[in-house]
Amino acid sequence: MHPDALKNLRTWFTKNAAKLPWRLTDLNALRDPYAVWISETMLQQTQVTTVHDYFLRWMERFPNVQTLAKASEAEVFKYWQGLGYYSRARNVLKAAQIIASLGKFPDTRKELEALPGIGAYTAGAILSLAYHKREAILDGNLVRIFSRFYKIGFLPTDKPSAKSKGKSCAEIYWNYARQVADSSKAYMHNEALMELGRTICKVKNPLCEKCPLSKFCKARLENCAESFPPAKKHIQQEWHGTVLVIESADKKILGVTEGCKFLKGQLALPHFESPKSATAGLTAEAERFVNADTIRSICNCGRFRHSITIHKIECEVQHIVLTTAAKTTPAGLAATWIPKAKALETFANSFSLKALKLVKKSSSPCK
Ligand code: SF4
Repeated sequence: MHPDALKNLRTWFTKNAAKLPWRLTDLNALRDPYAVWISETMLQQTQVTTVHDYFLRWMERFPNVQTLAKASEAEVFKYWQGLGYYSRARNVLKAAQIIASLGKFPDTRKELEALPGIGAYTAGAILSLAYHKREAILDGNLVRIFSRFYKIGFLPTDKPSAKSKGKSCAEIYWNYARQVADSSKAYMHNEALMELGRTICKVKNPLCEKCPLSKFCKARLENCAESFPPAKKHIQQEWHGTVLVIESADKKILGVTEGCKFLKGQLALPHFESPKSATAGLTAEAERFVNADTIRSICNCGRFRHSITIHKIECEVQHIVLTTAAKTTPAGLAATWIPKAKALETFANSFSLKALKLVKKSSSPCK
């Protein structure tokens, strides 16, 4: 990027940087790498406005890596609940345990990228924003800006083609990111571009007239900003299923941590794929979780929609009440019984909570 474009960018950012809980008042100060890591991880796939309160709550409960390393997975999930992509929370905990055992927060790309859940983007963000190293970052905001600024007609995820002159598309974008970061102000360039992408160079209706890069931006000069970057081929998978709310005679709800399609490793309600039409009675799949001889009643409580990563989910909810107490869990299942009164606070994922709330709301005669 032209030095004058970067100078304009710095001036703009100094005047317009939003006040955010993970950003210090002094934009030139070194930052806490732990806080940068947590905020950048939360911000992946999630809006700044949503992350704001989650970050504050998280930092109050887990103010440093040592506190986090000692927390249980269930508690970490609770503080992550609603942000989705729970594998990120699990990785954050695992990485915190490794960092705590190292005795210091890693400060090289190699060490950081060796930690669970930390990729090239997060490592670059920690190194540049916290330690002020000349390290590049590349997220969706920077991709959009580079694509428009240089009129790049492909995405980093595309295969090499004539448009990329046979070169790696990702490498072309990373090279632009490295140019921006090849400066003692790399930290400011990186953060300013992220902010510019969020507030000015937006996906739709970019505010080019307010943009500090407008004099240099090829797409702006040719009046075709919205034609860049090219549209991503959308891959979304539909998934229809049934969620079981299995209630024992002594009012406990069965939760599983393995053996189902989604939310592996965290406590979720049993679920399985089923046809779009409502499942009536006990199906063969449900018998993995419940013994047919112990059933007092089965009620269908309605359906809900949900999204997990690329899956667009629609689920039927069945409430199954047993004649037996919660003494044992079904054979071969990683499962546990949760007191019904505590279910809403214990199942820390919105997938299970939606099903529990449907049962609570329904006029199911099983209740
Ligand atoms: S001038 Fe417009 S298209 Fe170019 S970087 Fe700025 S906002 Fe984006």
